[in-house]
Amino acid sequence: MTEPTITPLEPMPGDWRRALAVVAHPDDLEYGCSAAIAAWTDEGREVAYLLATRGEAGIDTLAPAECAVLREREQRASAAVVGVKRVEFLDHKDGVVEYGIALRRDIAAAIRRHRPELVITLNHRDTWGGVAWNTPDHVAVGRATLDAAADAGNRWIFPELAERGLEPWDGVRWVAVAGSSTPTHAVDATAGLERAVRSLLEHRTYIEALTDEDPETYARTFLTESAEATGERFGGRPAVAFELFGR
Ligand SMILES: [Zn+2]
Repeated sequence: MTEPTITPLEPMPGDWRRALAVVAHPDDLEYGCSAAIAAWTDEGREVAYLLATRGEAGIDTLAPAECAVLREREQRASAAVVGVKRVEFLDHKDGVVEYGIALRRDIAAAIRRHRPELVITLNHRDTWGGVAWNTPDHVAVGRATLDAAADAGNRWIFPELAERGLEPWDGVRWVAVAGSSTPTHAVDATAGLERAVRSLLEHRTYIEALTDEDPETYARTFLTESAEATGERFGGRPAVAFELFGR
């Protein structure tokens, strides 16, 4: 019997200054990605967040109007922990985000405003790998983000954006998909891991509604275990994995 070959993950490209992370819900970036974001902001790179919804359908015991306010506040606090100052919300409806022209246009507009070289999003595929079904919002926002990275550079796809003063931005070089079951690249999570735990803990109301476990133990265990598992393909260092699409 031969041992299965483990393909090592490549280091992420480093020649960029600005990134925009586009996800469906508050907490999507904190479940794994934010240790990489902390490492990037440490290096003086600018990272901004764009959320398609306010996660208002995420807590069973809380009505959406009340929940939206609370989750927006938790998301802003969570971003601040990893050095992210700009957090924007698009007001698509949590749980029923539709993939389509309106979503692509909204994301393309944000890409034109922020002018990132790197765009980050969350798993756009039907599953997390195997039979763990993904949620429709992640699929819609992930796919629309991959598409909008190109839309943003084409003057004629959404001409109404240029009329609003948003000139095309053709500078997106990569879209990095977090939570992919077929990752290609990784970022060392050593320096950012502690802040990633605190960043996830800022979603305290959400976590308390989700689990009976102590929130701190829950956040630390989840993030440490996934960073260590990724590290097995990244020289033994705890890491955050991405599937990198070049443009
Ligand atoms: Zn989500």
